[in-house]
Amino acid sequence: MEIPITIEERDVYTTASIGVVFAAKDYSTASDLLRDADIAMYRAKTNGKARYEIFDGEMHRQALKRMHLENDLRRAIDCQEFVLHYQPIVALDTGYLVGFEALIRWQHPSYGLRYPGDFIAVAEEIGVITSISYWALRTACQQLVTWQTTFPDLPALKVSVNLSSQDLRRCDLVEEIDRILAQTRLPATCLTLEITESMLIDDIESTIVMLTQLKEKGIQISIDDFGTGYSSLNYLHRLPMNNLKVDRSFVNQMQEGKKNHRIVETIATLSHQLELVSIAEGIETSQQLEWLQQLGYKFGQGYLFSKPLSQDVVEELLETTNLYLFP
Ligand code: C2E
Ligand code: MG
Ligand code: MG
Repeated sequence: MEIPITIEERDVYTTASIGVVFAAKDYSTASDLLRDADIAMYRAKTNGKARYEIFDGEMHRQALKRMHLENDLRRAIDCQEFVLHYQPIVALDTGYLVGFEALIRWQHPSYGLRYPGDFIAVAEEIGVITSISYWALRTACQQLVTWQTTFPDLPALKVSVNLSSQDLRRCDLVEEIDRILAQTRLPATCLTLEITESMLIDDIESTIVMLTQLKEKGIQISIDDFGTGYSSLNYLHRLPMNNLKVDRSFVNQMQEGKKNHRIVETIATLSHQLELVSIAEGIETSQQLEWLQQLGYKFGQGYLFSKPLSQDVVEELLETTNLYLFP
């Protein structure tokens, strides 16, 4: 396989990824053997290609787990097993609540509450993420309108919703958001969309066109988990966006004079240069809060102020009308 094949004077290189399975006595059909050899071959590919892997019990367990998760997810969409939790976002200069980030949870009938880290990536891989995202958008917008109506004395709050890269490639995204805003009657200026840097890499030109359309309606765009992706400064300034959210891994490890402190500082400077609002997530200590305030971060969220809250608990908070969230 290592010898290149010459096609029209060009050398084409090939490699082989091989999955091996031993014919043990519990295999009764050829297709079962082939299925497991296939699983081992995919493992060989993910482990770097041009190699072989031997199917083992662990791969079998993982394949089963994955298959159950896929089936469960499809059922969860049909049966509407998702809920949103809402994490307060606070103005770091005043300590007052300005809005919420909607974070999805899956109320699994047998495993209880499951977090997005357990299922979002799989939902993306099997192509069902957009129906989840559209559900989250609609639910979050509807919820904010309900709160604003139930508590008319509230200041105008905002809600942020996370999108996946596949959502950005949907040609009906703008239309769907228009429809949701019209049906829920949420002003566009109350909605923020969070997208991550890595989502922007492919097809940057059409992403710019679409984000521009959204921004022109008054919707805000935040770059989430900033600092963990591969943003090219070349296109960062061309992106129609409003906010940079520094990733919580930097905030968490902030220590004065240490590297992460300087990264958080650099991101604040960059935001300022690009005329973007800087937001910090994962604020857990008063010391981090103080530093972020000094660096000019405008908004923040984190366990120091509040964990993501279920709908009922948000309502208890809104009822107290004390929206000052500094400890
Ligand atoms: P994210 O958008 O960066 O959300 C922030 C994550 O940090 C949330 O995790 C939140 O619970 C957690 N967090 C907030 N404050 C603190 C803190 O002080 N300390 C620590 N250690 N963690 C904190 P969560 O809810 O597990 O969500 C994880 C990620 O899943 C989100 O990261 C987002 O990328 C994704 N996600 C959540 N909801 C949705 C959704 O509706 N659609 C899509 N596509 N992705 C979602
Ligand atoms: Mg987010
Ligand atoms: Mg984030």
